[in-house]
Amino acid sequence: MTNPKPLSPILLTSSELKELFDFVTERSVLFRESFNERPYIPQKNYAEMRRIFSAPLPEKGCSPKQAVKELADMTEPGLAPMIGPRFFGWVIGASHPAGVAADWLTSAWGQNTALSAATPAAAACEEEAARWLLELIDLPRECSVGFTTGATIANFTALAAARSHMLRQQGWDVEAKGLFGAPEIRVLIGDEAHTTVYSALNFLGLGSQRVIRVPTDSMGRMKPSDFRSLMGREKKPTIVIAQAGQINTGAFDPWDDIIPLAHEHGAWVHVDGAFGLWARACPEKASLAQGCERADSWAVDGHKWLQTPYDCGFAIVRHAEAHRRAMTIAASYLPTDGDNRDPSHYVPELSRRARGFATWTMIRALGREGIAAMILRDCKLTELMADLLSREPGITVVNDVVLNQAVVRFGGPSLSTEDGDLLTRQTIDRLQSQALCFAGGGQWKGQWVMRLSMIGWATTQQDIEISAAAIIDAYRWAKSRKD
Ligand SMILES: *Cc1c(COP(=O)(O)O)cnc(C)c1O
Repeated sequence: MTNPKPLSPILLTSSELKELFDFVTERSVLFRESFNERPYIPQKNYAEMRRIFSAPLPEKGCSPKQAVKELADMTEPGLAPMIGPRFFGWVIGASHPAGVAADWLTSAWGQNTALSAATPAAAACEEEAARWLLELIDLPRECSVGFTTGATIANFTALAAARSHMLRQQGWDVEAKGLFGAPEIRVLIGDEAHTTVYSALNFLGLGSQRVIRVPTDSMGRMKPSDFRSLMGREKKPTIVIAQAGQINTGAFDPWDDIIPLAHEHGAWVHVDGAFGLWARACPEKASLAQGCERADSWAVDGHKWLQTPYDCGFAIVRHAEAHRRAMTIAASYLPTDGDNRDPSHYVPELSRRARGFATWTMIRALGREGIAAMILRDCKLTELMADLLSREPGITVVNDVVLNQAVVRFGGPSLSTEDGDLLTRQTIDRLQSQALCFAGGGQWKGQWVMRLSMIGWATTQQDIEISAAAIIDAYRWAKSRKD
């Protein structure tokens, strides 16, 4: 028998390994440092990037460094400036270097983070990071925490625990029997809930259409009187889904009007707090989320205000047993170690990344004070942005700025909805083409608006001043074309 020869150069000498990793460090530093010279828009669009990547399947391999260099050269023109200090699109954290570095180690260590018996370090670090998290955002310390890809799957995970708990109370084992023939669960949800909550509901067989939508006020908060009358008097198995931080306005549901009443009816209250729950980590903002600690489950992201790299979210559940029942994966070949916490018992996946490392490192690097200061700074910068924009006649900040979100309408009240929509969209297009900062658009309460989310770790007052001036310029340009 001949010895099998490697077909591609997969074995690296120690100097090749170092060269490979050094190359990545160097490119990463160059990318991060180029921000102030780069336009705030990908230089190449999707079609152009498809052409750049289009190539036949390689028959022969190359050195890892060559492959990674090709990747870096090809990719950079199509990267979005999401980590830049003047990126205000969607609600996107900016991958702090401390978390990125921890995440590199996470990859280098290659820990499959399913079981504590298999990877004691990853499991223990995750457990401690979870404990720190509960203390930071001041939720009941007995809660269980699952480390997910983001708030979408955190919502899914927490709502799976809710489904399990509510049906078990009716004597129904949903894990074993599924939903066919199960008692009905009623779902009440604010009319301005995040779209991913509806995805979670449809993954869970609870349906995105059969829910009861509670009317909301101009900020997107559930109206207490509507909530009360929709809850009614009956005690049906019910899940109530509330929100800490509306995706456009940053508003919080009225906790004191919702949670006690829901609990009187025996309902489970879930809170989608993807970014807004972080208000609890900032003393000056915590009152917005005061009272939501009485809920039964919460979803929050690491890759938003904690600035971990993608991906990282947390499913937090008061009833740890329901959480485990909904998520545990077990088999004889998967060793469990007595009462030790197994990371895979709290999330849908078995094999996954050790997200605890980057979470632990971000909390260690910023500390409670650093996190509170960052959140407060972003909120103050949002007030500054709103203030600078409102000084321009014809620009209206539509929401009360309570957190890090500003929703902006262009053209003033004398315009028709259609003309205002057009002017707003032209302003956004112009802003994006000038590329001094980035903001996107969306519809809020039936009107097109510009959405601004100040949630990075590196944004300064000067960035806000430059960006507000750019937005005003874009508006004046759009308006002058109309006149
Ligand atoms: C971002 C966000 C989500 C979805 O979170 P992902 O991390 O993108 O999965 C859900 N709800 C709210 C309020 C959000 O802001």
